[in-house]
Amino acid sequence: MVREERRTRGQAGGEGLRLAERIAKDGKFDNDLEYMDENAEKLARRVQKSELNLKNAAVNEFQKINKILDNCQLCHHEDRNLPPVAPIISLGTRVYLTLPTEPELSEGGAVIVPIQHRTNLLECDDDEWEEIRNFMKCLTRLYHEQGREVVFYENAAAPQRHMHAAMQAVPIPYDLGDTAPAFFKEAMLSADEEWSQHKKIIDTGARARDGLGKLAFRRSIAKEMPYFHVWFTLDGGLGHVVEDSNRWPRGDLFAREILGGMVDAEPDVIKKQGRWHRSDGRADGFKKRWRKFDWTRVLSDG
Ligand SMILES: [Zn+2]
Repeated sequence: MVREERRTRGQAGGEGLRLAERIAKDGKFDNDLEYMDENAEKLARRVQKSELNLKNAAVNEFQKINKILDNCQLCHHEDRNLPPVAPIISLGTRVYLTLPTEPELSEGGAVIVPIQHRTNLLECDDDEWEEIRNFMKCLTRLYHEQGREVVFYENAAAPQRHMHAAMQAVPIPYDLGDTAPAFFKEAMLSADEEWSQHKKIIDTGARARDGLGKLAFRRSIAKEMPYFHVWFTLDGGLGHVVEDSNRWPRGDLFAREILGGMVDAEPDVIKKQGRWHRSDGRADGFKKRWRKFDWTRVLSDG
């Protein structure tokens, strides 16, 4: 009921229904028969029309989401008995690991994905978060062994598109690890609307250190908001609430421009955002390097 109310808030049709409810509840209207007579017909027409709008809006939204789910490259399609188009490197019980689309800004990256189609990672429950963190930990060890640092980010700036939530892991040269926060901070400060309602930067790293620990990210941003978040440690980093989704750089471009600038990637590599392919030549090599860090082996080894 609450969910339904929340879902329909601000949608076409909701207003008339609420007006009707308010009048129905208000004793003054009950006693004023003249008012009721005058307005009953008008009100009935309005409510009917509102209900129809609401139904149409819900059907349209339902069809739109179904189409997105049918074509999602990160979803398991059980009805067709198909795994995700994105190659599965490592499979937990609620979360899996895949490779980034090509071209990569930095060779050897990875993507952490909840199996269930979530709109953003804030929608994930405690069990999903435990597995997300396991993957973050193991990837950090993998990259450290290669002498590299890693930045994790989630671009959840367009919730209306209902894309499958994912966390990108981008390895960067070790000596860039310390300066990465400054690059992101500067980009967030100059991004988006000039007059913003929200604080430009949500320092989840500081909030984690101040006592929120691993809950810092989940307690700092409302899951209904469009946002971008980058992690420099397991517990936090910097978040930004996006004021205007339509003006935010398309796809992952915001992060790609920052990271691409840091690692001196070519402009055409930064701009290009590819798709996943069912067979990926990089998968075997990654799996080999990943194996000794892979926490999901405890699941299959019993
Ligand atoms: Zn999906």
